[in-house]
Amino acid sequence: MSHLSFTSPAPGYWAGQNVLASDWNSTKWQLKNRVSSLADIERHLTLSDEERAGILLTGTKLATAITPHYFNLIHPTDPDCPIRRQVIPRIEETHTDPSEMADPCGEDAHMPVPGLVHRYPDRVLFLVTDRCASYCRYCTRSRVVSGVSDQKLETQWDMAIDYLKRTPQVRDVLLSGGDPLLFSDAKLEKLLARLHAIPHIQFLRIGSRIPIFLPQRITPELCEMLRNFHPLFVSIHCNHPAELTSEVRDALGRLADAGVVMGNQSVLLDKVNDSVETQKELVQKLLMCRVRPYYLYQGDLIQGTSHLRTKIAKGIEIIEGLRGHTSGYAIPQYVVDGPGGGGKIPLNPQYIVESTDERTVLRNYEGREFVYPEAQVTPVLD
Ligand SMILES: *Cc1c(COP(=O)(O)O)cnc(C)c1O
Repeated sequence: MSHLSFTSPAPGYWAGQNVLASDWNSTKWQLKNRVSSLADIERHLTLSDEERAGILLTGTKLATAITPHYFNLIHPTDPDCPIRRQVIPRIEETHTDPSEMADPCGEDAHMPVPGLVHRYPDRVLFLVTDRCASYCRYCTRSRVVSGVSDQKLETQWDMAIDYLKRTPQVRDVLLSGGDPLLFSDAKLEKLLARLHAIPHIQFLRIGSRIPIFLPQRITPELCEMLRNFHPLFVSIHCNHPAELTSEVRDALGRLADAGVVMGNQSVLLDKVNDSVETQKELVQKLLMCRVRPYYLYQGDLIQGTSHLRTKIAKGIEIIEGLRGHTSGYAIPQYVVDGPGGGGKIPLNPQYIVESTDERTVLRNYEGREFVYPEAQVTPVLD
């Protein structure tokens, strides 16, 4: 199946009835009508036993919630549907592999104040909320996100902003969570204004999956407000070309027209996007939406997600299948977050065949070899 077109499946038809366009296009309506219970889900989908058990048994780990917009993309009967695997729980989630952790990226140990992760010298990750429009089953922060587990996100905005004011080496603040675009325009505006007013902060970024889960939230009013905080970057999270519907494309267009620079962070997931063909479609469609593929993440070692992870070799194979075969702008950096708090570590195919002081032998994307002679000391007269 090709997803290169930007069609949306019958957006006005939902739960066996026609929905008014004014409801469908409303953020409030989409949030209020999120699908979350087994009964809700079974009204629309034929579930496998693994999925039914998953829905019943994962309620204290990570909530299930799916916006009607995103739910509409799920195949009604195929349990291997790539959209379905991202948001419908499965029984495998109750299995914790010995290598898996609650906090594999070691975030909790790098918080100088609650909710603010300061791992790199010049930038911070500010967790501003624990809620999202829909919940991804492989969530890297499932220990605190969605509000159902024992650990709660204790974010302290005043303390975090005080810390940033007295920490001049921080020049880049990344707002994440949870999803910051779930805030009202007024609440988000206040937060952005407080950060924007700190002189040493050079730019702000927002990490959000709302453009994919709830494109209706990307209103002209929101975009007008965001314009006041340039340079502003938004990192979206799109994993599969089918997620780029016409509604999503239009929402991304509004953000781009407002001058927001966009990147995409995708997660490599088993039976979702673990092939060169799917990734190529994804990255090419992203460029058409003016979104530059930024990172492709190897799955973090989150408890109960081994069924969604791939081997690292798969990620390398995908990058190798893209480099040279499509626009350089379309190629994300493949990274693994070093387990235990190592931060992002880039992984690349090996293009160096052999290297000495005199020369380096390289191979290109077709497998042909080329010799690059190293500069030699130029003889100087006398
Ligand atoms: C990913 C991340 C950042 C941002 O990293 P970039 O490579 O600059 O995008 C900052 N802080 C933390 C803790 C992160 O995990």
